[in-house]
Amino acid sequence: MKNYLLGLLLGLTLSAIAVQANDAAKPKGPDEDGTLPALVKIAGEGTMDSHAFEYLTELSDEVGARVTGTPSAQKSIDWGLAKMKAIGLQNVRAEKWTMWKGWTRGKAEAELLEPLHHPLAIDAMGWTGSTPANGVEAEVITANLFDLDEEIRTVGKFRGKIVLMSPKGNPKKGFDAIFAQFGDFLRAAHRAGAFAVIGGQGGFKAEGMHLTHTGILGFAADFAIPVVDMTREDQGQLERFLEAGKTVRVRMNVQNTFSNGPVDSANVVGEIPGREHPEELFVVGAHLDSWDLSEGATDNGTGSTSVLAAADAIVKSGFRPRRTIRFVLFTGEEQGLLGSLAYIKQHESEMKNHLGDVVLDLGQGPIKEFQLGGRSDLLPAFEPFLRALANIREIQVSDKIEIETDTAPFTLAGLPGINLDQDSPDYKYTYHSAADALEAVKPDVLAQNATIMAMTAFWIADRPERLASPWPAEKTARMLREKGEYDTLKAFGLWPFGDLGAEPSTTN
Ligand SMILES: [Zn+2]
Repeated sequence: MKNYLLGLLLGLTLSAIAVQANDAAKPKGPDEDGTLPALVKIAGEGTMDSHAFEYLTELSDEVGARVTGTPSAQKSIDWGLAKMKAIGLQNVRAEKWTMWKGWTRGKAEAELLEPLHHPLAIDAMGWTGSTPANGVEAEVITANLFDLDEEIRTVGKFRGKIVLMSPKGNPKKGFDAIFAQFGDFLRAAHRAGAFAVIGGQGGFKAEGMHLTHTGILGFAADFAIPVVDMTREDQGQLERFLEAGKTVRVRMNVQNTFSNGPVDSANVVGEIPGREHPEELFVVGAHLDSWDLSEGATDNGTGSTSVLAAADAIVKSGFRPRRTIRFVLFTGEEQGLLGSLAYIKQHESEMKNHLGDVVLDLGQGPIKEFQLGGRSDLLPAFEPFLRALANIREIQVSDKIEIETDTAPFTLAGLPGINLDQDSPDYKYTYHSAADALEAVKPDVLAQNATIMAMTAFWIADRPERLASPWPAEKTARMLREKGEYDTLKAFGLWPFGDLGAEPSTTN
């Protein structure tokens, strides 16, 4: 009897240990962790009673373009605050931050004078300068975008010329390195007395049929020289003339205005407070600011209205998550992630309570992948969640890092900056261009993206176990170096870790 009991007890203990070990190895999905009833309700609200497209229509047609620091950007901030309040979020507020300089687009006109005579379609790149008031008339010569070292060394030849950026041969550097060095080239060309530069973001040529794409040319960087993007069609013809040895003369008049000093902006913030751990929080974000050649419907009206529609679906579900979900519409993203960087600074004392953020910023297509921003430790936790979403959409998970949107400051803070990667083949045409309009967005895809964003946020905030805590800086720095992100972050002035994470030098 004694032996039998002992054996039974031992057996029970062993099986309990086995169950525990099994639990640790196999993360629970919504069907096991208690989140399923809420997710079912949120999915219903998000798809059957979605307000996402209605929000996007308002943002596109009542606010329109909203370049950070401009009056229309302030209008978008007020609109975001009003929406969050109407949805029923709590602690709704504008969190002010200051941008180094404001910029307003004026006219951009160009005309080919020789060897043919016709108008050229151009638009100014953001935070770039102006020609003299009556414009300039000059010969166009090319600079090889793929050998900026050489072009900077011989920059004197651009004096009194309009420079056309044209890639020749094989690039010696990656895209990000070229992007960063293009800024150095622009400063050198300006000092050398060049009149203007034709080249898009990173100096690259425009995509699409008769489109120009504006954008910033460095993180929080401005340039005194006028820089314009020209349509692919017009630029291609100039390139052919120049390759054939013909003289190309262009008249150009570009007028932009910089503010006299710093300008104010604000992130728009609202919350669903957690029912058990309100101090712990997960951020759902997207950037509210846009460029100004159209309505900014796909960059990033879709992301902003997904954030709002996600909040709406969760509030209407009647379920409250264990932890707080904080909804943030960032501004200044287009000038170098300025709003999300400001957020991290302003909330520094709270960062230990953050679980991460999820961001949607790749236009109009359906979500196809959760990219966990280097946090490979979280991949197993997502597997059962993805299985739970399988009847809504097949979504992959990876630990890829997206440093070109508001995920990056969270990744740098050691948290999972979760990027919702999208299948958006048309985005290369719509982003920063005159085609960035409501016409490009399908209501069903938008509602479904917003619903997936809502379910992701709720699941992360509500699952019994805390998904993630910030890594120490050393660990984050090492991960980013191993993932090959150091050079780019350094080039854009975003590397905050100094020598941290570098391999100790080995001596033989
Ligand atoms: Zn964007």
